[in-house]
Amino acid sequence: VLAIEHFNFWYGRQQVLTDIRMPIPRGKITTLIGPSGCGKSTLLRCVNRLNDLADESHVSGQMSLNGAPLYDSSVDVIALRKRMGMVFQKSNPFPKSVYENVVYPLRIDGIRQRRRLDEACESSLRKVALWDEVKDRLRDNALTLSAGQQQRLCIARAIAAEPEILLMDEPCSALDPIATAKIEDLLEQFKGSYSILLVTHNLQQASRTSDFTAFMFLGRILEFGPTRTIFTRPRLAETNDFVTGRF
Ligand code: ATP
Ligand code: MG
Repeated sequence: VLAIEHFNFWYGRQQVLTDIRMPIPRGKITTLIGPSGCGKSTLLRCVNRLNDLADESHVSGQMSLNGAPLYDSSVDVIALRKRMGMVFQKSNPFPKSVYENVVYPLRIDGIRQRRRLDEACESSLRKVALWDEVKDRLRDNALTLSAGQQQRLCIARAIAAEPEILLMDEPCSALDPIATAKIEDLLEQFKGSYSILLVTHNLQQASRTSDFTAFMFLGRILEFGPTRTIFTRPRLAETNDFVTGRF
Protein backbone atom coordinates (compact mmCIF):
# COMPACT_ATOMS: atom_id res chain seq x y z
CA VAL A 1 0.00 0.00 0.00
CA LEU A 2 1.14 3.48 -0.88
CA ALA A 3 -0.35 5.95 1.56
CA ILE A 4 -0.37 9.67 0.81
CA GLU A 5 -1.12 11.77 3.86
CA HIS A 6 -1.75 15.53 3.88
CA PHE A 7 0.83 15.99 1.16
CA ASN A 8 1.60 19.45 -0.24
CA PHE A 9 4.01 20.46 -2.96
CA TRP A 10 5.23 23.84 -4.18
CA TYR A 11 7.19 24.92 -7.23
CA GLY A 12 8.71 28.10 -5.81
CA ARG A 13 5.72 30.06 -4.56
CA GLN A 14 3.20 28.20 -6.64
CA GLN A 15 1.41 25.51 -4.67
CA VAL A 16 0.73 22.67 -7.09
CA LEU A 17 -0.50 19.94 -4.73
CA THR A 18 -2.74 20.68 -1.77
CA ASP A 19 -3.59 18.33 1.07
CA ILE A 20 -3.44 15.14 -1.00
CA ARG A 21 -4.75 12.20 0.98
CA MET A 22 -5.36 8.86 -0.66
CA PRO A 23 -4.53 5.19 -0.34
CA ILE A 24 -3.19 3.28 -3.34
CA PRO A 25 -4.09 -0.26 -2.34
CA ARG A 26 -1.97 -3.31 -2.99
CA GLY A 27 -2.84 -5.40 -6.03
CA LYS A 28 -5.23 -2.82 -7.43
CA ILE A 29 -5.16 -0.32 -10.25
CA THR A 30 -5.85 3.23 -9.14
CA THR A 31 -6.25 5.86 -11.84
CA LEU A 32 -5.72 9.55 -11.47
CA ILE A 33 -7.86 11.66 -13.77
CA GLY A 34 -8.38 15.40 -14.03
CA PRO A 35 -7.92 18.40 -16.32
CA SER A 36 -4.58 19.26 -17.87
CA GLY A 37 -2.34 21.08 -15.42
CA CYS A 38 -4.17 19.89 -12.29
CA GLY A 39 -1.01 18.21 -10.95
CA LYS A 40 -1.26 14.53 -11.92
CA SER A 41 2.29 14.16 -13.23
CA THR A 42 3.63 16.21 -10.35
CA LEU A 43 2.00 13.85 -7.86
CA LEU A 44 3.46 10.81 -9.63
CA ARG A 45 6.90 12.38 -9.66
CA CYS A 46 6.57 13.18 -5.96
CA VAL A 47 5.94 9.49 -5.26
CA ASN A 48 9.33 8.48 -6.57
CA ARG A 49 10.90 11.76 -5.54
CA LEU A 50 11.82 12.86 -9.03
CA ASN A 51 10.63 16.28 -7.96
CA ASP A 52 13.59 16.57 -5.66
CA LEU A 53 15.41 17.45 -8.86
CA ALA A 54 13.31 20.57 -9.48
CA ASP A 55 14.79 23.85 -8.29
CA GLU A 56 13.11 25.73 -5.47
CA SER A 57 10.56 23.04 -4.81
CA HIS A 58 9.46 22.06 -1.36
CA VAL A 59 7.03 19.66 0.23
CA SER A 60 5.14 19.07 3.43
CA GLY A 61 3.20 16.09 4.65
CA GLN A 62 4.14 12.46 4.20
CA MET A 63 3.90 9.47 1.91
CA SER A 64 4.76 5.91 2.81
CA LEU A 65 5.20 2.72 0.85
CA ASN A 66 4.30 -0.45 2.72
CA GLY A 67 4.86 1.37 5.98
CA ALA A 68 8.21 2.98 5.12
CA PRO A 69 8.10 6.79 4.96
CA LEU A 70 9.24 8.31 1.66
CA TYR A 71 9.96 11.80 2.93
CA ASP A 72 12.17 11.33 5.98
CA SER A 73 15.63 12.85 5.92
CA SER A 74 17.12 9.39 6.40
CA VAL A 75 15.57 8.02 3.19
CA ASP A 76 17.99 6.77 0.55
CA VAL A 77 16.31 8.10 -2.60
CA ILE A 78 18.18 5.78 -4.96
CA ALA A 79 17.17 2.72 -2.93
CA LEU A 80 13.64 4.06 -2.76
CA ARG A 81 13.35 4.41 -6.54
CA LYS A 82 14.37 0.78 -6.93
CA ARG A 83 11.19 -0.17 -5.09
CA MET A 84 9.11 1.50 -7.79
CA GLY A 85 8.72 1.04 -11.53
CA MET A 86 7.98 4.10 -13.64
CA VAL A 87 6.58 4.27 -17.16
CA PHE A 88 6.25 7.56 -19.00
CA GLN A 89 4.06 8.81 -21.82
CA LYS A 90 6.96 8.85 -24.22
CA SER A 91 8.60 5.48 -24.09
CA ASN A 92 12.27 5.86 -23.25
CA PRO A 93 14.23 2.71 -23.94
CA PHE A 94 17.98 3.12 -23.62
CA PRO A 95 19.86 2.98 -26.93
CA LYS A 96 21.06 -0.49 -26.00
CA SER A 97 19.95 -4.01 -26.80
CA VAL A 98 16.47 -5.24 -25.94
CA TYR A 99 18.08 -7.61 -23.42
CA GLU A 100 20.11 -4.92 -21.65
CA ASN A 101 17.04 -2.70 -21.37
CA VAL A 102 15.03 -5.37 -19.57
CA VAL A 103 17.78 -6.49 -17.19
CA TYR A 104 18.96 -2.96 -16.41
CA PRO A 105 17.26 -2.79 -12.96
CA LEU A 106 18.89 -6.09 -12.00
CA ARG A 107 22.28 -4.89 -13.14
CA ILE A 108 22.05 -1.80 -10.97
CA ASP A 109 21.15 -4.13 -8.14
CA GLY A 110 24.51 -5.77 -8.74
CA ILE A 111 23.16 -9.04 -10.14
CA ARG A 112 25.72 -10.64 -12.43
CA GLN A 113 24.72 -14.29 -12.81
CA ARG A 114 23.89 -14.89 -16.43
CA ARG A 115 21.15 -17.39 -15.63
CA ARG A 116 19.27 -15.01 -13.34
CA LEU A 117 19.46 -12.22 -15.88
CA ASP A 118 18.27 -14.51 -18.67
CA GLU A 119 15.37 -15.72 -16.56
CA ALA A 120 14.32 -12.22 -15.56
CA CYS A 121 14.54 -11.12 -19.18
CA GLU A 122 12.34 -13.89 -20.46
CA SER A 123 9.78 -13.76 -17.68
CA SER A 124 9.43 -9.96 -17.86
CA LEU A 125 9.05 -10.02 -21.63
CA ARG A 126 6.45 -12.77 -21.32
CA LYS A 127 4.50 -10.72 -18.79
CA VAL A 128 4.19 -7.89 -21.32
CA ALA A 129 3.38 -10.29 -24.17
CA LEU A 130 6.53 -9.31 -26.03
CA TRP A 131 8.61 -12.49 -25.76
CA ASP A 132 7.37 -14.15 -28.93
CA GLU A 133 7.84 -10.96 -30.90
CA VAL A 134 11.39 -10.23 -29.77
CA LYS A 135 12.97 -13.50 -28.65
CA ASP A 136 15.06 -13.57 -31.82
CA ARG A 137 15.92 -9.88 -31.49
CA LEU A 138 17.27 -9.72 -27.95
CA ARG A 139 20.62 -8.39 -29.24
CA ASP A 140 19.01 -5.77 -31.49
CA ASN A 141 18.98 -2.15 -30.45
CA ALA A 142 15.71 -1.42 -28.62
CA LEU A 143 15.16 1.64 -30.79
CA THR A 144 14.54 -0.65 -33.79
CA LEU A 145 11.28 -1.89 -32.20
CA SER A 146 7.91 -0.34 -33.06
CA ALA A 147 6.50 2.37 -30.78
CA GLY A 148 4.07 -0.03 -29.14
CA GLN A 149 6.78 -2.64 -28.65
CA GLN A 150 9.09 -0.01 -27.16
CA GLN A 151 6.44 0.95 -24.63
CA ARG A 152 5.85 -2.68 -23.66
CA LEU A 153 9.62 -3.05 -23.36
CA CYS A 154 9.67 -0.10 -20.95
CA ILE A 155 6.95 -1.81 -18.92
CA ALA A 156 9.01 -5.02 -18.90
CA ARG A 157 12.00 -3.02 -17.64
CA ALA A 158 9.84 -1.35 -14.99
CA ILE A 159 8.67 -4.70 -13.59
CA ALA A 160 11.90 -6.70 -14.05
CA ALA A 161 13.13 -6.17 -10.50
CA GLU A 162 9.69 -6.78 -8.99
CA PRO A 163 8.86 -3.31 -7.73
CA GLU A 164 6.35 -2.73 -4.96
CA ILE A 165 4.42 -0.26 -7.08
CA LEU A 166 4.17 0.64 -10.74
CA LEU A 167 3.71 4.31 -11.62
CA MET A 168 2.44 4.99 -15.13
CA ASP A 169 2.03 8.49 -16.57
CA GLU A 170 -0.19 8.31 -19.65
CA PRO A 171 1.52 5.18 -20.96
CA CYS A 172 -0.73 4.95 -24.02
CA SER A 173 -1.28 8.50 -25.11
CA ALA A 174 1.49 8.41 -27.73
CA LEU A 175 0.26 5.08 -29.16
CA ASP A 176 -2.26 4.03 -31.80
CA PRO A 177 -5.47 2.20 -30.81
CA ILE A 178 -4.06 -1.28 -31.40
CA ALA A 179 -0.92 -0.69 -29.34
CA THR A 180 -3.13 0.94 -26.70
CA ALA A 181 -5.43 -2.08 -26.57
CA LYS A 182 -2.43 -4.35 -26.03
CA ILE A 183 -1.33 -2.31 -23.04
CA GLU A 184 -4.86 -2.28 -21.65
CA ASP A 185 -4.84 -6.08 -21.90
CA LEU A 186 -1.65 -6.08 -19.85
CA LEU A 187 -3.21 -3.87 -17.21
CA GLU A 188 -6.08 -6.32 -17.03
CA GLN A 189 -3.61 -9.17 -16.48
CA PHE A 190 -1.60 -7.21 -13.93
CA LYS A 191 -4.67 -6.81 -11.76
CA GLY A 192 -4.33 -8.65 -8.52
CA SER A 193 -0.55 -8.96 -8.69
CA TYR A 194 0.66 -5.39 -9.17
CA SER A 195 -0.15 -2.19 -7.34
CA ILE A 196 -0.51 0.43 -10.05
CA LEU A 197 -0.99 4.18 -10.01
CA LEU A 198 -2.03 5.13 -13.53
CA VAL A 199 -2.49 8.63 -14.92
CA THR A 200 -4.64 8.74 -18.01
CA HIS A 201 -6.49 11.24 -20.17
CA ASN A 202 -8.51 8.40 -21.59
CA LEU A 203 -11.67 8.16 -19.51
CA GLN A 204 -12.77 4.94 -21.17
CA GLN A 205 -9.43 3.44 -20.28
CA ALA A 206 -9.81 4.58 -16.67
CA SER A 207 -13.29 3.14 -16.35
CA ARG A 208 -12.39 -0.09 -18.15
CA THR A 209 -9.16 -0.92 -16.37
CA SER A 210 -9.10 0.56 -12.88
CA ASP A 211 -10.45 -0.53 -9.51
CA PHE A 212 -10.27 2.92 -7.92
CA THR A 213 -10.36 6.40 -9.38
CA ALA A 214 -9.20 9.70 -7.96
CA PHE A 215 -10.48 12.89 -9.55
CA MET A 216 -7.97 15.69 -9.25
CA PHE A 217 -8.82 19.35 -9.71
CA LEU A 218 -6.56 22.36 -9.16
CA GLY A 219 -4.06 20.34 -7.16
CA ARG A 220 -6.56 18.63 -4.88
CA ILE A 221 -8.15 15.20 -4.90
CA LEU A 222 -11.79 16.23 -5.01
CA GLU A 223 -13.19 12.74 -5.07
CA PHE A 224 -11.83 9.23 -4.59
CA GLY A 225 -13.65 5.94 -4.69
CA PRO A 226 -14.40 2.74 -6.56
CA THR A 227 -14.17 3.46 -10.30
CA ARG A 228 -17.78 2.49 -10.92
CA THR A 229 -18.99 4.94 -8.31
CA ILE A 230 -16.87 7.80 -9.63
CA PHE A 231 -18.10 7.24 -13.18
CA THR A 232 -21.75 6.48 -12.52
CA ARG A 233 -22.68 8.13 -9.22
CA PRO A 234 -20.13 10.85 -8.44
CA ARG A 235 -20.79 12.95 -5.39
CA LEU A 236 -19.68 16.30 -6.83
CA ALA A 237 -20.85 18.30 -9.82
CA GLU A 238 -17.21 18.91 -10.87
CA THR A 239 -16.54 15.18 -11.05
CA ASN A 240 -19.75 14.57 -12.93
CA ASP A 241 -18.91 17.27 -15.49
CA PHE A 242 -15.47 15.82 -16.01
CA VAL A 243 -16.42 12.16 -16.36
CA THR A 244 -19.28 12.99 -18.72
CA GLY A 245 -16.98 15.04 -20.92
CA ARG A 246 -18.79 18.30 -20.25
CA PHE A 247 -15.74 19.88 -18.72
P1 ATP B 1 -1.30 17.16 -18.07
O1 ATP B 1 -2.61 16.44 -18.01
O2 ATP B 1 -1.31 18.25 -19.08
O3 ATP B 1 -0.13 16.25 -18.19
P2 ATP B 1 -0.82 17.41 -15.22
O4 ATP B 1 -2.07 17.22 -14.45
O5 ATP B 1 0.11 16.26 -15.33
O6 ATP B 1 -1.18 17.96 -16.67
P3 ATP B 1 1.45 18.80 -14.05
O7 ATP B 1 2.39 18.55 -15.16
O8 ATP B 1 1.60 18.01 -12.81
O9 ATP B 1 -0.07 18.65 -14.56
O10 ATP B 1 1.53 20.35 -13.70
C1 ATP B 1 0.86 20.92 -12.57
C2 ATP B 1 1.22 22.37 -12.43
O11 ATP B 1 2.60 22.47 -12.08
C3 ATP B 1 1.04 23.19 -13.69
O12 ATP B 1 0.53 24.44 -13.31
C4 ATP B 1 2.44 23.32 -14.23
O13 ATP B 1 2.58 24.51 -14.95
C5 ATP B 1 3.28 23.34 -12.97
N1 ATP B 1 4.64 22.81 -13.20
C6 ATP B 1 4.94 21.58 -13.70
N2 ATP B 1 6.27 21.39 -13.75
C7 ATP B 1 6.84 22.53 -13.28
C8 ATP B 1 8.19 22.99 -13.07
N3 ATP B 1 9.23 22.19 -13.34
N4 ATP B 1 8.37 24.23 -12.56
C9 ATP B 1 7.33 25.01 -12.27
N5 ATP B 1 6.03 24.66 -12.44
C10 ATP B 1 5.79 23.44 -12.94
MG1 MG C 1 0.92 15.18 -16.92
